[in-house]
Amino acid sequence: MHDDRDLVEARLKRVLNERIRPALYPESVPLEVAVWHAPDEPVPVAEGLAATPEPIAVGDAWGVPWGTSWFTVTGTVPREWAGRTVEALLDLGFDEDMPGFQCEGLVYLPDGAPVKGLNPRNQWVRVGAPVKGGEQVRLHVEAASNPVILGRHPFQPTRLGDKETAGSDPLYRLTRMDLAVFDENVWQLVMDLEVLGELMHQLPVEGARRWELMRAVNRALDAVDLQDVNGTAAAARAELTGVLSAPAVPSAHRVSAVGHAHIDSAWLWPLRETVRKVARTASNMTALLEDEPDFVFAMSQAQQWAWIKEHRPEVWAKVTKAVASGRFVPTGGMWVESDTNMPGSEAMARQFVHGKRFFIDEFGVDNEEVWLPDTFGFAAGLPQIIKAAGSKRLLTQKISWSQTNTFPHHTFLWEGLDGTRIFTHFPPVDTYNCSMTGGELAHAARNFKDKGVARHSLAPTGWGDGGGGTTREMVAKAARVRDLEGSPAVRWETPADFFAKAEAEYPHPPVWAGELYLELHRATLTSQAKTKQGNRRSEHLLREAELWAATAAVRAGAPYPYAQLDRIWKTVLLHQFHDILPGSSIAWVHREARRTYELVAEELNGIIDAAQRALAGDASGGTLVFNGAPHARGGVPAGGAARPEPGVRTSVRERDGGGHVLDNGLLRVEVDARGLIVSIYDVEADRETVAPGKVAGLLQLHPDFPNKWDAWDVDEFYRNTVTDLTEADEVSLVDGSVRVRRSFGSSSVTQVLTLSGRRLDVDTEVDWHETEKFLKLAFPLDVHADRYASESQYGHVFRATHTNTSWEAAKFEACNHRFVHVEEPGWGIALVNDSTYGHDVTRTAGEAGTTTTVRVSLLRAPRFPDPETDQGVHRFRHALVPGATIGDAVREGYVVNLPERRVPGDAEVAPLVTVDDDAVVVTAVKLADDESGDVVVRFHESRGGRARATLTPGFPVAEVVETDLLERPTAEPRRHDGPVPLTLRPFELVTLRMKRA
Ligand SMILES: [Zn+2]
Repeated sequence: MHDDRDLVEARLKRVLNERIRPALYPESVPLEVAVWHAPDEPVPVAEGLAATPEPIAVGDAWGVPWGTSWFTVTGTVPREWAGRTVEALLDLGFDEDMPGFQCEGLVYLPDGAPVKGLNPRNQWVRVGAPVKGGEQVRLHVEAASNPVILGRHPFQPTRLGDKETAGSDPLYRLTRMDLAVFDENVWQLVMDLEVLGELMHQLPVEGARRWELMRAVNRALDAVDLQDVNGTAAAARAELTGVLSAPAVPSAHRVSAVGHAHIDSAWLWPLRETVRKVARTASNMTALLEDEPDFVFAMSQAQQWAWIKEHRPEVWAKVTKAVASGRFVPTGGMWVESDTNMPGSEAMARQFVHGKRFFIDEFGVDNEEVWLPDTFGFAAGLPQIIKAAGSKRLLTQKISWSQTNTFPHHTFLWEGLDGTRIFTHFPPVDTYNCSMTGGELAHAARNFKDKGVARHSLAPTGWGDGGGGTTREMVAKAARVRDLEGSPAVRWETPADFFAKAEAEYPHPPVWAGELYLELHRATLTSQAKTKQGNRRSEHLLREAELWAATAAVRAGAPYPYAQLDRIWKTVLLHQFHDILPGSSIAWVHREARRTYELVAEELNGIIDAAQRALAGDASGGTLVFNGAPHARGGVPAGGAARPEPGVRTSVRERDGGGHVLDNGLLRVEVDARGLIVSIYDVEADRETVAPGKVAGLLQLHPDFPNKWDAWDVDEFYRNTVTDLTEADEVSLVDGSVRVRRSFGSSSVTQVLTLSGRRLDVDTEVDWHETEKFLKLAFPLDVHADRYASESQYGHVFRATHTNTSWEAAKFEACNHRFVHVEEPGWGIALVNDSTYGHDVTRTAGEAGTTTTVRVSLLRAPRFPDPETDQGVHRFRHALVPGATIGDAVREGYVVNLPERRVPGDAEVAPLVTVDDDAVVVTAVKLADDESGDVVVRFHESRGGRARATLTPGFPVAEVVETDLLERPTAEPRRHDGPVPLTLRPFELVTLRMKRA
């Protein structure tokens, strides 16, 4: 037979596009349209409905950037349409290629009942099926004229990312506002042809099935009368029933489709817009659930649910009803889909506490699946936290974005730093925005690494990023591939149903130990320094606020600010969202975040001050030092207050050859005339810290213009070009410290070097006005080490200092919390920080041997999506601790993040709990969230070894019980009126709840 395959495929494409799809709405009449533009920010629904609109015509421009316009559309269904299906077509000026990234709307009935969302792939509102004719139609559309930030020429700097700089030129033009007859037969024919056409292209040309589909499609196209598509669509469909009814082969891949809309809690839009995005998407999904009995939708991020409840009660009513039906499913169990690299131990835990508690309180749902499709890498502390929260499964697809290495599994056990294993699935469809195309399904089946031993994968299906959700077209396609030869078999299922099947069929999945490092988006550890600093400050202030408020409650009967702490925690957790803390949002988001963190600090300091005043006694009685850290220091117990002890004195002298020498008997530091550290001598260990011939505390400036994703990415080639900032404007002695001022480009920097016990503190203030540059602070260290440690949640991880394999080479920028640590057996060095996360550690070969250089990442200056990223003044504290063990690194990390507080008073404060082994670190002391008055203490083994310790409560205890993170007992309560013996495995995390006697 002659090969006419190309001819038929081209025919299908043209006829579908130019004849069949245009016949979907064969008749239409225009609606009357009027509009009221809200003067500034969005208004309550009632206000928008009550406003007096003015006429506007199709073709008119509307929509200032970030504006809100309330359209009122009215019309009458023509009598002659009686018996037919009629829809309103409301095209606000959409570009179909950018769902979620441009204007959007939410349609209401005149009484304020939400109908559904409008977005580029969802422009219709069903009026009647069938209509009687003569019905009056009146709809209101709350339209948001959100600008396109990531447009057809992506990553171009734009001022549209902040309302304050976006201007007032209208962005959109009303395109179509009609009532139209919907031809169900034509729509079904489109669905048939799309499914078969897409499947056909995925099948091998050598196989018979491909040709069967092609012949059937060709017959269907023959049956279409191009002058009367509506009259012949049914006949065309009849030609396809045979190929559509052939069942899937027994070994077909099984896809669990989960209706989904990945909605970034803020990104290319501000937080307040996400409140509305969520309402639009939820309205769409409740409507779709009513129309489609098989469909299942899952929504993550308790914060987004809470927004609906608070701001859109009319949508909330529909959502709660749909949840009760079991098909609108709360998933994820986190407050937001947060970053997981940077959040500290307790904050990561509280993401689950607040997320899971919301779903339990509202719906009685305690879900066990962690849903993080889009997060930029996964810290090795996470498995233990997931388990401690009572969850046991993880889903993400993001590691498929890695640039260098291909991850070897799609379904596996992920082992965290403490050995906890979590059943993990990476959807092989490689997207969280699956739209049920044949190409996506075939890719999932082909790509699935575990085939032969497992058969099931999950496909999050629906428009995401900016929202929209699943469409009726996706549901129609899923129905056709439920059991279709050549295609994976698709079922709508909940995440829990999927995981149950995946676990059952795969009892011995492979294991991946350690972090899930994303080989991309590494600059998110540095971009938007003030957002990161705000997070770090807030986490430590929250620790102090809980500790001192609990202590004041137990010791002095002071009220515990339950509601206030709950609210502040949720604010801090929200800002750990995977585009806020990583610094990848528009200017508006980060401007608001800076202000929010200021308010959080103010409020938490207020709580801390009040608690400490309640504890400190007579204010005229001298000075007390409150130590909020988990280790005793300067004679003050951890979690207590006492009179301060004098510190070690530093002597200062001139250095031969210029510069200064700082000496406190423990460390001797030489700073040369350029203000560079040429020696840090550990007197006790009798050894030098700085690598031979190198200088420490060196600022290095790199050009930094990644190939794409400016705020997200730093590409490896940035390291090829570097400028060492060695010229000093001034080197001087100030109060026993060396102060160095430098200027470079349009920027200037002041560094102050101070000896403090075994620490050399390096305080850096940068007035940063660079563009597309990367500023690093380098410490070349005389240490030969194959690996180094970075603090992570409830422990630390090791990474190689070499680049033997592509996996190691790809980790050229990585995340730490408060410290990195390198060591030779018996002697190590910690570099601690008060607010930076990004760093790199490399090996340098010299005549005296191989040394190790640790560099922290201070600032970047990408121009997308915030063209002014990080411009202005920044302050950082770093400290080098020669001779430090891991235990010292842990302790000094807390010291720089929790400065002591000096408070007037005379009453020394005994800690609420004392642990007799510094390896066991208390991460939280608080009163129980259920307001019972119980004291909750969380602690972990911090050094990666075994610990036997004794925890001694400083108050009468009736009962002690071990709990999960949500403070729910996991064991039988034990009666205890004294010390509690502890035995901990490496990095083990424990929560104890103590009932007060
Ligand atoms: Zn995202």
